[in-house]
Amino acid sequence: MPSITLKDELLYHKLKKYAEETNTTISDITEDMVFDFLTRKGKDTSAFDDYYIRKEDLEVQATNLINTTLPAHIAAFAKEIAYLNLKIPLWQHLMGIYRLAHDQGQFPAPFLDTAWSSVKITAQHIFKCKNCGKTAELKRLGQRFCNNNCAAEYERKHD
Ligand SMILES: [Zn+2]
Repeated sequence: MPSITLKDELLYHKLKKYAEETNTTISDITEDMVFDFLTRKGKDTSAFDDYYIRKEDLEVQATNLINTTLPAHIAAFAKEIAYLNLKIPLWQHLMGIYRLAHDQGQFPAPFLDTAWSSVKITAQHIFKCKNCGKTAELKRLGQRFCNNNCAAEYERKHD
Protein backbone atom coordinates (compact mmCIF):
# COMPACT_ATOMS: atom_id res chain seq x y z
CA MET A 1 0.00 0.00 0.00
CA PRO A 2 1.60 3.28 -1.07
CA SER A 3 2.07 5.94 1.54
CA ILE A 4 0.58 9.34 1.00
CA THR A 5 2.24 12.53 2.09
CA LEU A 6 -0.47 14.81 3.30
CA LYS A 7 -0.47 18.54 3.41
CA ASP A 8 -2.27 19.98 6.40
CA GLU A 9 -5.46 20.98 4.63
CA LEU A 10 -5.68 17.64 2.93
CA LEU A 11 -4.87 15.93 6.21
CA TYR A 12 -7.82 17.62 7.85
CA HIS A 13 -10.19 16.34 5.17
CA LYS A 14 -8.70 12.84 5.35
CA LEU A 15 -9.13 12.84 9.11
CA LYS A 16 -12.71 14.03 8.76
CA LYS A 17 -13.50 11.29 6.26
CA TYR A 18 -11.80 8.67 8.42
CA ALA A 19 -13.72 9.90 11.47
CA GLU A 20 -17.00 9.52 9.61
CA GLU A 21 -16.07 6.07 8.29
CA THR A 22 -15.10 4.79 11.73
CA ASN A 23 -17.85 6.61 13.59
CA THR A 24 -15.39 8.46 15.81
CA THR A 25 -14.10 12.02 16.06
CA ILE A 26 -11.19 13.86 14.47
CA SER A 27 -9.98 14.65 17.96
CA ASP A 28 -9.93 10.97 18.95
CA ILE A 29 -8.05 10.00 15.81
CA THR A 30 -5.52 12.80 16.17
CA GLU A 31 -4.99 11.80 19.80
CA ASP A 32 -4.36 8.21 18.74
CA MET A 33 -2.00 9.26 15.98
CA VAL A 34 -0.04 11.59 18.21
CA PHE A 35 0.11 8.93 20.91
CA ASP A 36 1.43 6.40 18.43
CA PHE A 37 3.80 9.00 17.11
CA LEU A 38 5.17 9.69 20.58
CA THR A 39 5.06 6.27 22.18
CA ARG A 40 5.30 3.86 19.28
CA LYS A 41 5.72 0.44 20.87
CA GLY A 42 5.46 -1.87 17.88
CA LYS A 43 1.73 -1.34 17.70
CA ASP A 44 -0.07 -2.08 14.47
CA THR A 45 -0.85 1.29 12.94
CA SER A 46 -1.82 -0.09 9.54
CA ALA A 47 -5.30 1.42 9.88
CA PHE A 48 -3.62 4.80 9.64
CA ASP A 49 -1.39 4.02 6.69
CA ASP A 50 -3.42 6.14 4.30
CA TYR A 51 -3.85 8.86 6.88
CA TYR A 52 -0.48 8.94 8.56
CA ILE A 53 0.93 12.09 10.04
CA ARG A 54 4.51 12.94 9.24
CA LYS A 55 6.43 14.27 12.20
CA GLU A 56 6.87 17.60 10.46
CA ASP A 57 3.15 18.10 9.97
CA LEU A 58 1.88 21.18 11.74
CA GLU A 59 -1.14 19.36 13.11
CA VAL A 60 1.05 16.88 15.00
CA GLN A 61 3.18 19.68 16.34
CA ALA A 62 0.19 21.76 17.40
CA THR A 63 -1.53 18.81 19.08
CA ASN A 64 1.67 17.75 20.82
CA LEU A 65 2.33 21.30 21.98
CA ILE A 66 -1.19 21.88 23.24
CA ASN A 67 -1.43 18.48 24.95
CA THR A 68 1.89 18.85 26.72
CA THR A 69 1.70 22.48 27.81
CA LEU A 70 -1.92 23.30 28.61
CA PRO A 71 -4.20 22.04 31.38
CA ALA A 72 -6.38 19.21 30.02
CA HIS A 73 -9.61 21.21 30.09
CA ILE A 74 -8.06 24.05 28.04
CA ALA A 75 -6.54 21.61 25.55
CA ALA A 76 -9.91 19.86 25.19
CA PHE A 77 -11.71 23.17 24.74
CA ALA A 78 -9.24 24.32 22.08
CA LYS A 79 -9.77 21.10 20.13
CA GLU A 80 -13.53 21.29 20.50
CA ILE A 81 -13.59 24.86 19.18
CA ALA A 82 -11.20 24.10 16.31
CA TYR A 83 -12.64 20.78 15.17
CA LEU A 84 -16.32 21.06 16.02
CA ASN A 85 -17.19 24.76 15.93
CA LEU A 86 -14.79 26.30 13.43
CA LYS A 87 -13.94 23.08 11.53
CA ILE A 88 -10.30 24.06 11.07
CA PRO A 89 -7.00 22.35 11.92
CA LEU A 90 -5.84 22.92 15.50
CA TRP A 91 -2.67 24.64 14.34
CA GLN A 92 -4.75 27.30 12.58
CA HIS A 93 -6.70 27.93 15.77
CA LEU A 94 -3.46 28.18 17.74
CA MET A 95 -1.87 30.65 15.37
CA GLY A 96 -5.12 32.58 15.02
CA ILE A 97 -5.18 33.08 18.79
CA TYR A 98 -1.52 34.07 18.71
CA ARG A 99 -2.21 36.61 15.98
CA LEU A 100 -5.20 37.93 17.91
CA ALA A 101 -3.06 38.38 21.03
CA HIS A 102 -0.57 40.36 18.95
CA ASP A 103 -3.23 42.60 17.48
CA GLN A 104 -4.56 43.26 20.99
CA GLY A 105 -1.10 44.30 22.21
CA GLN A 106 -0.70 41.32 24.54
CA PHE A 107 2.71 40.10 23.36
CA PRO A 108 4.74 41.87 26.09
CA ALA A 109 2.74 40.28 28.93
CA PRO A 110 2.11 36.61 28.17
CA PHE A 111 0.76 34.10 30.67
CA LEU A 112 3.72 31.97 31.73
CA ASP A 113 3.12 28.64 33.44
CA THR A 114 5.86 27.69 35.92
CA ALA A 115 5.41 24.05 34.89
CA TRP A 116 6.68 24.83 31.40
CA SER A 117 10.28 24.98 32.54
CA SER A 118 10.11 21.26 33.25
CA VAL A 119 8.01 20.22 30.27
CA LYS A 120 9.67 17.57 28.18
CA ILE A 121 8.33 17.22 24.67
CA THR A 122 9.63 13.91 23.50
CA ALA A 123 9.18 11.84 20.42
CA GLN A 124 10.05 8.28 19.57
CA HIS A 125 12.70 8.40 16.87
CA ILE A 126 13.45 4.76 16.24
CA PHE A 127 11.37 2.03 14.65
CA LYS A 128 12.08 -1.56 13.59
CA CYS A 129 11.68 -2.48 9.92
CA LYS A 130 9.03 -5.15 9.42
CA ASN A 131 11.06 -6.71 6.61
CA CYS A 132 14.71 -6.74 7.58
CA GLY A 133 14.36 -6.12 11.31
CA LYS A 134 16.87 -3.27 11.32
CA THR A 135 16.18 -0.22 13.42
CA ALA A 136 16.06 3.14 11.68
CA GLU A 137 15.09 6.74 12.20
CA LEU A 138 11.31 7.20 12.11
CA LYS A 139 10.45 9.58 9.31
CA ARG A 140 6.71 9.48 9.72
CA LEU A 141 3.99 8.02 11.91
CA GLY A 142 3.10 4.48 10.94
CA GLN A 143 6.37 3.84 9.15
CA ARG A 144 7.00 0.08 8.94
CA PHE A 145 9.85 -0.25 6.49
CA CYS A 146 13.25 1.40 6.23
CA ASN A 147 12.83 2.06 2.50
CA ASN A 148 10.83 1.20 -0.60
CA ASN A 149 12.99 -1.84 -1.34
CA CYS A 150 12.15 -3.38 2.03
CA ALA A 151 8.47 -2.59 1.54
CA ALA A 152 8.48 -4.23 -1.91
CA GLU A 153 10.38 -7.27 -0.64
CA TYR A 154 7.89 -7.68 2.20
CA GLU A 155 4.99 -7.42 -0.25
CA ARG A 156 6.51 -10.14 -2.45
CA LYS A 157 7.01 -12.45 0.54
CA HIS A 158 3.47 -11.92 1.79
CA ASP A 159 1.46 -12.13 -1.42
ZN1 LIG B 1 14.34 -2.85 6.14
